[in-house]
Amino acid sequence: MRTLFATLVMLVVGAGRAEAKVHVVTTIETFADLARRVGGDRVDVKSLSHGYMDPHFVEPKPSLVIDLNRADLLVHVGLELEIGWLPPLVLGSRNEKITLGQPGNLDASSQIPVLDVPTTKVDRSMGDIHPQGNPHYWVAPDNAVIVAREIAARLEQIDGSGAAAYRANLKRFEEEVGKRRAEWEKRAAPMRGTKVVTYHKSWSYVSKWLGLTEVGYVEPKPGIPAPPSHIAGLIGLMRREGVKVILMESFYPRNTVDLVGQKAGAKTLVMPSDVGATPEIKDYFSLVDAVVAKLVSP
Ligand SMILES: [Zn+2]
Repeated sequence: MRTLFATLVMLVVGAGRAEAKVHVVTTIETFADLARRVGGDRVDVKSLSHGYMDPHFVEPKPSLVIDLNRADLLVHVGLELEIGWLPPLVLGSRNEKITLGQPGNLDASSQIPVLDVPTTKVDRSMGDIHPQGNPHYWVAPDNAVIVAREIAARLEQIDGSGAAAYRANLKRFEEEVGKRRAEWEKRAAPMRGTKVVTYHKSWSYVSKWLGLTEVGYVEPKPGIPAPPSHIAGLIGLMRREGVKVILMESFYPRNTVDLVGQKAGAKTLVMPSDVGATPEIKDYFSLVDAVVAKLVSP
């Protein structure tokens, strides 16, 4: 009897293991797409936020704690992007595997060449929400590849038997990015040198990649709403510099930007910044397609 029971347990556990997927939870939808590409059918992926939300401020719903409780791997943007909402959720999930320093906790910024690192000490109490540099790095192709490599390495560490699959999937993604990247750059070439103003300091990596010149920002500091004196100065600056384009994400308030655009004679482009920003943007490639399309044919 005991032998039969042991055999049954072994069968059930064995079957479960063969079926079990690696549960990946990401903070943004772009990372969820990268994890699906690298993980293929060995992973089950969920994103805590959606591409139409401000990733700095995600509502910490109880369902997110449940997702985190089941996670084998948590992939987050880092550079304090999620500091306002993620740490309490991780704590609440009581999941040792995804705590800081564990293989199940991947700070995807660790290998990114970070832009806009403050040269003086910046304190969050002063309101700047980018104290460790600019966390909005994932749209630029070089950075997407870096994140995909990091995810592949962690999946391999957590699920060694999938190593060959993860490496093959990563290689396919890298090749696809290489191909598409040349098309994107060719398409956006006429934008090179274009002067732009952005609402939040969230386009630095795209501007660097495609050669846009950022002249100013609607927010005086990342996360700080503009006082009237700043707006007046910005309008003057845009007139002097001949800035005709303002870039902003859909989740920022429109009224100030429309006023600035009207007074300065500039057009506002509502840009997607993450997979899921609009229903058509279903993956990393359609995200960059949409960004480039917005820039070249506003
Ligand atoms: Zn930001």
